[in-house]
Amino acid sequence: MKRIAIVGAGVAGLTLAVETNAVAEVTVFEKSRGYGGRMATRQADSFQFDHGTQFFTAKSEQFAHFLEPCIAQGYVVRWDAEFVEIESGKIISRRNWAEGPPHYVCAPKMNELARQMAAGLDVILEARVAKIVESGSRWQLYDQNQAMLGEFDWVVLSIPAAQAFDLMPVSFCARGPIGQKQMLGCYSLMLGFTQAPPVDWQAAFVSEADISWISNDSSKPGRHGPYTLLVHSTNRWAEANMDTATETVIEYLLQELEQVAGINASSADHVGLHRWRYANIAKQDGERFFIDPGQRLAAVGDWCIHGRIEAAYLAAYELAQTLKAQL
Ligand SMILES: Cc1cc2nc3c(=O)[nH]c(=O)nc-3n(C[C@H](O)[C@H](O)[C@H](O)COP(=O)(O)OP(=O)(O)OC[C@H]3O[C@@H](n4cnc5c(N)ncnc54)[C@H](O)[C@@H]3O)c2cc1C
Repeated sequence: MKRIAIVGAGVAGLTLAVETNAVAEVTVFEKSRGYGGRMATRQADSFQFDHGTQFFTAKSEQFAHFLEPCIAQGYVVRWDAEFVEIESGKIISRRNWAEGPPHYVCAPKMNELARQMAAGLDVILEARVAKIVESGSRWQLYDQNQAMLGEFDWVVLSIPAAQAFDLMPVSFCARGPIGQKQMLGCYSLMLGFTQAPPVDWQAAFVSEADISWISNDSSKPGRHGPYTLLVHSTNRWAEANMDTATETVIEYLLQELEQVAGINASSADHVGLHRWRYANIAKQDGERFFIDPGQRLAAVGDWCIHGRIEAAYLAAYELAQTLKAQL
């Protein structure tokens, strides 16, 4: 059996591993302590936050089919949120997501889907791949301490485009187009309350402001902790403020929250901030994955299609079908 190294245990990397595991010896290397990448959950005392992906949809038959057993087993569930659109500080529309196509979340937390996918796979956590070196007809992977992580026939990078560009061997034929992909940043403000603020909706798209999204995270199904609010900055504001001090970003986003939605968060018992350097990417044309059969290298991620869970899944699923034919 050929040996495949997959770098990154987000949705794309795990999809690829699940799809190829029966026909190859697959190892996934993940730099973090947990699975899921940007489909992430953070615990702060008793407060729980999905500080990356908020919800996901299934527009393609392939992804809907993949989700069927996850829904049947209860760790992917509909979130029938009371949803509003806020423009220039005013609610301009309101509807319940029970009416219309499903908006899914994972339960009891967003990274549960990744945890389930990783079961039965060889995933090595807290293993950052820092260097990939050719050795005869194989690739050797090294961590940041120069320790060898293993030797493989194929290497697939399922990490954000800029990181893939930095890590991939220069001989990879897709370096040019991958180097052109532009991912954008985002700030996630996490607010925990023992006394819930007076908000009569659970999810909001915001326009004409520097925040783009507000949700009552603890209202998602399967959560039993105290009230939490999650606020996302716009990508534009984050890009302009990537190096701004954490306290300044928090102060500004709290002001915006009050101005846009009338929510005064001064009574919050927990205030946290996460900076996503590579959060999202606009819809892409072109290749849905990158593969170089001559070099036995590939790269994939949501950034091939669109910054969405469904896109990460589809790009990796399609790469897996092509890769299997090469093994
Ligand atoms: C704030 C935010 C909100 C979002 N909201 C939504 C939403 O509501 N709906 C939706 O569908 N999508 C949303 N997304 C997008 C969604 O999260 C992504 O499309 C999806 O998670 C991408 O999956 P991926 O596997 O391609 O990449 P990632 O999830 O980024 O996975 C890459 C993995 O590689 C690891 N890694 C990186 N470098 C290395 C290395 N050198 N060695 C080892 N491991 C490494 C990382 O730690 C990470 O776990 C959001 C994203 C963010 C950040």
